[in-house]
Amino acid sequence: PYDVLIVGGGPAGAAAAIYAARKGIRTGVVSERFGGQVLDTLAIENFVSVQETEGPKFATALEQHVKSYEVDIMNVQLASALVPGKLIEIKLANGGSLKSKTVVLATGARWREINVPGEREYRNHGVAYCPHCDGPLFKGKRVAVIGGGNSGVEAAIDLAGLVSHVTLIEFGDELRADAVLQRKLHSLKNVTVITSAQTTEITGDSKKVNGLVYKDRKTGAVHTVELEGVFVQIGLVPNTEWLKGTIALSRHGEIEVDAKGQTSIPGVFAAGDVTTVPFKQIVIAVGEGAKASLSAFDHLIRSSVS
Ligand code: FAD
Repeated sequence: PYDVLIVGGGPAGAAAAIYAARKGIRTGVVSERFGGQVLDTLAIENFVSVQETEGPKFATALEQHVKSYEVDIMNVQLASALVPGKLIEIKLANGGSLKSKTVVLATGARWREINVPGEREYRNHGVAYCPHCDGPLFKGKRVAVIGGGNSGVEAAIDLAGLVSHVTLIEFGDELRADAVLQRKLHSLKNVTVITSAQTTEITGDSKKVNGLVYKDRKTGAVHTVELEGVFVQIGLVPNTEWLKGTIALSRHGEIEVDAKGQTSIPGVFAAGDVTTVPFKQIVIAVGEGAKASLSAFDHLIRSSVS
């Protein structure tokens, strides 16, 4: 069996693998797609000490760093179940099974897509999901935020300080964000809020975004907003479908962890976007991955399993 088996090969999983391998213990990483969300990212400008890089380049660097240690990388493998026990079992979708004394879950999350024409075509060319990451790219430009929940309204407030104008588009008849956020939003002069609006298309000039089309759900009238960027803020979905009923999850489906990354199952730790730890960022995922691995090591040296 492995000493530490990591599920997920994004920044959190990579950091966990490096920290485990450096202890000289048997380490494995099973991942559906090594690199994770970073593979879908264009510019990364907030990974401390790296002024500027590109997602795929960063993913390659992660992989090379992990490969410089003795780590079994099992890529393009989907975990389908976790069976707790003295040895923890990870079942794979291909019928295989892996056993380990400790497990670090780092399966990350995915942004919920709005699924309208233009969204996929202009991803990274005006369509964005993360205001902390991509907000500065739209400095002085006009953007829309789709979604009037807490994350959408927070994004609009954040972006209003950077861009020239923000249009917040909410599908329902009213915003769903906390009252204090709504008050802040309404106090901003460069924000327009449009409710009862169904986004039907993100338009572009074949290179980058130039507008957003929405239908007024009350009158049926179709409107176009001219802009340079669209932030889709309709939810971040943790990749925990396969863990439901096995491990304690928050009401948003995130794995509940304590300050050490310990989950509800002894010997099982978790890190990164898949957990309840707030703010989904690479630098945070990397730190949490290191922490989960050190906690797994701590568990190993205290437990009787040999
Ligand atoms: P992920 O990167 O999501 O990795 C999860 C890993 O788990 C992947 O390898 C995946 O294949 C694997 N996996 C999932 N389910 C399974 C399963 N069942 N079995 C096996 N493997 C599984 N953050 C920044 O700090 N700066 C930025 O500029 C930035 N830009 C971004 C731009 C975009 C377009 C996106 C989408 C995100 C961006 N982020 C940015 C956020 C950042 O990418 C995430 O916070 C970070 O990748 C989280 O790392 P993670 O390891 O927790 O999860």
